[in-house]
Amino acid sequence: MENFVVSCRFFPQSEITALYAYAGGLQLPSATTIFTYMSSLNQDFEDYTDKAVDDLSALQDEFMKLYEIESYEHWYYDHTLGAFNFKSDSGKNLYFKYIDVGSFSTKANTWNWGWANSSTPVRVSRGLRKVKDFGEANGFEQLTKGLFDGDEYTGWAMTAIAAKQLSAIGAYRAPLDDVLFVYFIFTYELTQDEYDALKEKYIKCDLHESGRVAFVCQHLITDRGIGFNEALESDPDVDAADDYQAWCDECEKARLREGEWNDVSMAVAQIKVVCDQCYFVIKERNQSVI
Ligand SMILES: [Zn+2]
Ligand SMILES: [Zn+2]
Repeated sequence: MENFVVSCRFFPQSEITALYAYAGGLQLPSATTIFTYMSSLNQDFEDYTDKAVDDLSALQDEFMKLYEIESYEHWYYDHTLGAFNFKSDSGKNLYFKYIDVGSFSTKANTWNWGWANSSTPVRVSRGLRKVKDFGEANGFEQLTKGLFDGDEYTGWAMTAIAAKQLSAIGAYRAPLDDVLFVYFIFTYELTQDEYDALKEKYIKCDLHESGRVAFVCQHLITDRGIGFNEALESDPDVDAADDYQAWCDECEKARLREGEWNDVSMAVAQIKVVCDQCYFVIKERNQSVI
């Protein structure tokens, strides 16, 4: 990746982070080096990590070959969409849905999981709950502590574990500045159409800058403990294909009385648009009836 150059903001309308040149964003350090680092840890964790790192190394080779990653000179990521974009000078684009695994600070020598970092939106770190749960079930402290001391290999080791747990198709390490590296895993490729459609599904939010559109009845916006009925069961750990929609128990009664959503039941609900992060706050506040 030697040919990566400083990137300009090519999506001026969004909160795209323009990133800097970095050679070797896809290359893991050698397994031997990681193995030496891991040897101070518990044996089961060491074995698991060693296997995960081997698997990710093999996966990265395939990933780079399959997508011809080296033919792209620029890369960007957008936390609003959770989409990573490789772009070539010739105009080719490649898009991936990603999970922000975490970041390593070479200044503090600490690893910070994405789920424990308040500046990482839930929508790009939600899959990590599975990794944390796995750590809890097996007593692997590194997977359950949000912030801990490490060295330059910690980032790739944690990323390899996340990649294995979440069936990633590839990974990337991006420098945010001189001392901070962010690690991504890619979960699936997005076509240009899917990427464009994804962009259309986002709205501005006063609390969260922007987010994916979700729909709730007027009562859920302000009340608490009034029930939470969903069109589809939502799970913050699952990236849903359909929009989130929910309404309170009173609206559910109106809907059942009418037998459907019609002018009468819709007049009761007066559906509002919220961002996905707000949606889960509203869900938390209303799902148990007071
Ligand atoms: Zn309602
Ligand atoms: Zn919001």
